Amino acid sequence: MKMQRELRWGMRIIATAILSVAWVLSAWAQPQDRGPAPHVIVIGIDGLSVDGVAKAKAPRLRELISRSAWTMEARGVMPTLSSPNWTSMITGAGTEQHGVTSNGHLRHLVEFQPVLRNAAGIFPTVFAALRTQIPTSRIAVFHDWPGFSDLLEKDAPDVLQHEHGAARTVEVAAKYWSENRPNLMFIHLDNVDQAGHENGWGNSTYYEAVARADCYVGVILDMLEKLSATQSTFVLVTSDHGGKGRSHEKNVLEDIQIPWVLSGPEIIAGHIVAPVYTFDTAATIAWIFGINLSEYAIGRPVLAAFRSPTTMARSVPAESAGRSCAPDRGLIPTGAGGSPPLANLSHNNQHN
Ligand SMILES: [Zn+2]
Repeated sequence: MKMQRELRWGMRIIATAILSVAWVLSAWAQPQDRGPAPHVIVIGIDGLSVDGVAKAKAPRLRELISRSAWTMEARGVMPTLSSPNWTSMITGAGTEQHGVTSNGHLRHLVEFQPVLRNAAGIFPTVFAALRTQIPTSRIAVFHDWPGFSDLLEKDAPDVLQHEHGAARTVEVAAKYWSENRPNLMFIHLDNVDQAGHENGWGNSTYYEAVARADCYVGVILDMLEKLSATQSTFVLVTSDHGGKGRSHEKNVLEDIQIPWVLSGPEIIAGHIVAPVYTFDTAATIAWIFGINLSEYAIGRPVLAAFRSPTTMARSVPAESAGRSCAPDRGLIPTGAGGSPPLANLSHNNQHN
């Protein structure tokens, strides 16, 4: 009897152990619960000028703007080259902090080190912040310009993929989003910048390139619509710099002013009066996800874009409050005197 009892107990223990191992294995095998983390798609159109948005045939952008919080007076950082500006956009830091002073980093040129370096040897990006603080997040980066991948931690995204050409890049990105619903997807498109360098900014060839980029934005918007995800997904369209003549490295407003257009849940459609800088993009993404950028970052979330900021991802500590207010009345917003023609944008937006 005793032996039988012991045998039964032994069998139970073995069965329990097998079940436990099976449970652990199945937990590993199953996709992890991604939780209710938001979905953000950033479409960065290299070299898209404010003038380009205003004058090109861009029906999809206009439709997006009509339901977005937007400004055409956002600013990049100096110098108005691609790498410093993309880096500021994804780190929330200025050139002074991240130290990417030119495209020379592609040749391993380092003029000065960043004020803060992570294991990848760079100023931490919002991709790394999301990966660290919400490890289960799905992050994807598709880039048309190969140099973009050197600006972020290669192990932060689930997918970091270079594609040839803007059409292909957006096609692959849309397919990936449909199949994987990443929390954060960044799409870099290069065709507008290429047109600017080849034929100059602000001419018919350039505007045609902007019109093509508009179609690419449309591919993403159509994909979201088809998946009934338009209302639940943040879409941010912006650029690294504008341009004038055949370049974008002069100290002129046409180079440094960029469009910044954010649609999504709880967004107040209309013109953002508060100042917006490209480094605020990383801070705004971080804020949407309820994560923190490094304390060395200077970007602030663009709270003016949100309907009820306090009920969003997290409450914002006073010291890191975003730019939710218009500038002081005594100060003159510097858009005055330098704004490009926006008349054909304003009729699309009742809040203008
Ligand atoms: Zn660029």
